[in-house]
Amino acid sequence: MLDALDRGALNPSSPHAEGRAARALLDDCRDRVAGLLGASRKEIVFTAGGTEADNLAVLGIVRARRGTHAVAAATEHHAVLEALQGLRDEGCRTTLLGVDSDGRVDPAALAAALRDGAALTAIMYANNEIGTVAAVDELARLAHAHGAAFHCDAVQAPEWLPLDVAALGVDSLAMSAHKFGGPKGTGALYVRNGTPLAPVLRGGGQEFGRRPGTEDVVGIVGLTAALEAAVAERSTQARRVAVLRDRLERELLARLPGVRVNGSAAPRLPNIGNLAFEGIAAAELVAALDLAGVATAAGSACTSGVPEPSHVVAALGLEPRWRDGAIRLSLGRSTSDADIDVAVAAIVRTVEALRGNTRSEAGRAQTRGG
Ligand code: PLP
Repeated sequence: MLDALDRGALNPSSPHAEGRAARALLDDCRDRVAGLLGASRKEIVFTAGGTEADNLAVLGIVRARRGTHAVAAATEHHAVLEALQGLRDEGCRTTLLGVDSDGRVDPAALAAALRDGAALTAIMYANNEIGTVAAVDELARLAHAHGAAFHCDAVQAPEWLPLDVAALGVDSLAMSAHKFGGPKGTGALYVRNGTPLAPVLRGGGQEFGRRPGTEDVVGIVGLTAALEAAVAERSTQARRVAVLRDRLERELLARLPGVRVNGSAAPRLPNIGNLAFEGIAAAELVAALDLAGVATAAGSACTSGVPEPSHVVAALGLEPRWRDGAIRLSLGRSTSDADIDVAVAAIVRTVEALRGNTRSEAGRAQTRGG
């Protein structure tokens, strides 16, 4: 990225030598990203992040097909759910599919929702809050059998899961650079050749007429390098991080009563654990852990900084004690064994302290009461 910044203006649409150099750099990135997905150059649209990629796919495909119905999982990211709201505002019907207690969509429920036809089905590859990995190939086949295009939000996937778009059978697939070590505000949408897609933004012919605006070449260089590194390290890191995550969960379950791992019966990303701590509200635990130096999340971290109750955990239909105290612990390629020791010690201390407070408050109330 520093090298690209040093090259100066980098506008790939400019007619001069510098513009042509920028175009060559952009084409090279597009080829490399396409190669990593098993796609071709014209199937890659660079965007300003995962949210834009999801919006472009959901709105762009349904509008291009003049669709009147779209189907998605209730546990999708807000980038998909809010795009569906946009479709509803335009008079399109949408169906949200429930999930089982581990976050999986039932293929029979998808087939039933598609019985009357749909322009699009959107189901994410891996959930950002509980890590559940969907059977994308099976769900995409079902969608196609009913005449629906299939969009996949793969924002959480590149570091951990295979990304061969032909094997997945998707028509579009969204990625975000900062989820695999690249810069924030840069993303990509794969769109299968022949998939109709109406642009959401207007104003220029860039990205094969599908996403106008001067390309962020420096960000795209970063996305490309980060994706190559993530894919090269994928299998080693996925194994290593899964061992760390499993130890984190095992030690917390052993050292604290009233703990549950949500979503653990389904195939999961190796780096996410959604843990519920009975008797503690998730927002309170996140705040206390932050003071203890452990950064966790509950609900959607992408909004105000104030955790809202999680629509994903709510969709699992858990008992309130496992729903209300659920927080997300995420690991990364830089997480070490020592980090796990620090996290376990801090979480045990914090949970015991919060539960102690609750107990002594209850005790005081009882004493006052009688
Ligand atoms: N989809 C999923 C599954 C995500 O986790 C996120 C971000 O956390 C997004 C979409 C949005 O991506 P971005 O923050 O790049 O807009």
